[in-house]
Amino acid sequence: MDKIVSLCKRRGFLFQSSEIYGGLNGFWDYGPLGVELKRNVKDAWWRDMVTGHDETLVPNGAPQAFNMVGLDCTIIMHPQVWKCSGHYDLFHDFMVDCRECKGRFRADHIKSLDCPLKPSKRPGEHDKCQLTDPREFNLMFKTFVGALAGEEGAAFLRPETAQGIFVNFKNVCDTQRVRVPFGICQVGKSFRNEITPRNFTFRSREFEQMELEFFCHPSESPAWYKYWRDRRYAWYLKHGLKSEKLILREHDKDELSHYSCGTADVEYAFPFCEAGEYGELEGIAHRGDFDLRSHMEGKLVKDEAGNLVVEKNAEGKPRHPGSGKDLTYFDDQTRERFVPHVIEPSAGADRATLAFLCEAYHEDKQPDENGTMQERTVMKFHPKFAPVKAAVFPLVKKNGMPEFALDVYRDLKAAGIATVFDQQAAIGKRYRRQDEIGTPYCITVDGQTLEDKTVTIRDRDSLEQWRVPAAKLVEEVSTRLKG
Ligand code: ATP
Repeated sequence: MDKIVSLCKRRGFLFQSSEIYGGLNGFWDYGPLGVELKRNVKDAWWRDMVTGHDETLVPNGAPQAFNMVGLDCTIIMHPQVWKCSGHYDLFHDFMVDCRECKGRFRADHIKSLDCPLKPSKRPGEHDKCQLTDPREFNLMFKTFVGALAGEEGAAFLRPETAQGIFVNFKNVCDTQRVRVPFGICQVGKSFRNEITPRNFTFRSREFEQMELEFFCHPSESPAWYKYWRDRRYAWYLKHGLKSEKLILREHDKDELSHYSCGTADVEYAFPFCEAGEYGELEGIAHRGDFDLRSHMEGKLVKDEAGNLVVEKNAEGKPRHPGSGKDLTYFDDQTRERFVPHVIEPSAGADRATLAFLCEAYHEDKQPDENGTMQERTVMKFHPKFAPVKAAVFPLVKKNGMPEFALDVYRDLKAAGIATVFDQQAAIGKRYRRQDEIGTPYCITVDGQTLEDKTVTIRDRDSLEQWRVPAAKLVEEVSTRLKG
């Protein structure tokens, strides 16, 4: 992990936020290469879910054809949203403070965290440790809307993007030609005041989520739950995470949220995980009608018989009243009115990006131009995710090679292929620079180019080299990137 973190810093994938002031724990900035990588991950998700979705076809394994649309909601929403969703009352972690070292730890993680005192031990294991009893801590960041900083202006930064989708359910139904079953997708920032941010970007306080809320008929919801669980797991495999490091873990009944009748996590064996342990990339949850009903009727709780009922205050009124708006769905073909059930695949864009970074990292030995074996660090990104797709090199800075190479570079750029031009240093060094940032194809303009107008392409992973006519280069690179 240390090597990956250092490469991310050295090559401009990730920087600590506000680094020149000593950084801010739990906040990260994406550098010039990181921003491209993460954007490619988010774009691949969006294309798979929204723009590339064919709503006239039944995709493999799906019970029927369905619509998919997108939304982009605000980060700050009406405070009642979080009261009805349960986040205001329930979105807590238990924390333990140490009066000696002033460390703060999540109570349920204490057996895997390090105490800041030396030698390295778990919190509570030093004689000097003075741990408090676990205390509740709300993970939502609070802020104030408007000029008055009083409680009536209090609001929260969203801890998940999902609620923006639920509160717009009616708007989407009323304005789009969607029919249940259909899905609404959103990609955006979420904020959680994590007690112990750690493991690089894995647990941050500001992060991005890629969420789908899929609305379906209650009787079909178990089939849709299985469909989305399997499809989301397959997405990570398709984009290069190795099956031996990726698991789909179905939650035990006692692990489920109070409203859920099924949840599975896609988990990845990050380098920082202990042997046999995994970190969550995405949760796929069957949420029943909990969310739409909460925003209609008021915050729900389970009664003694296990039914969801509106929570009441001492006067018998809803403790957190809902909007009172009708969020039911009327099926004009079956003439049935019902509250749709929801399947929610909720992924972290930063955790996915980190998993793709970890999977891409390889070290090997390759001969340099003199045949001497050299250590090589190579990021074997899926071509779709690679921040730079192609690099163009004139072999030497003379004999018309730079001019020819610039034309090649401009053709690739004009075709929308992220390309760099590099004429500095020996060719071997230029290859190594590109290998380290995961550029799939390096193109060299050499002496033969000037005679027959062909260029050399070098493949990052196989190191195979072959010649193609410069006029066919864009087609060749595009086809390979797609393949
Ligand atoms: P964890 O148990 O790891 O705290 P969670 O179960 O609370 O995660 P969800 O509420 O299901 O997470 O959020 C959905 C997804 O959002 C997670 O699978 C993860 O990818 C991402 N996510 C959640 N919290 C963070 C965080 N602090 N930093 C980065 N990504 C996060």
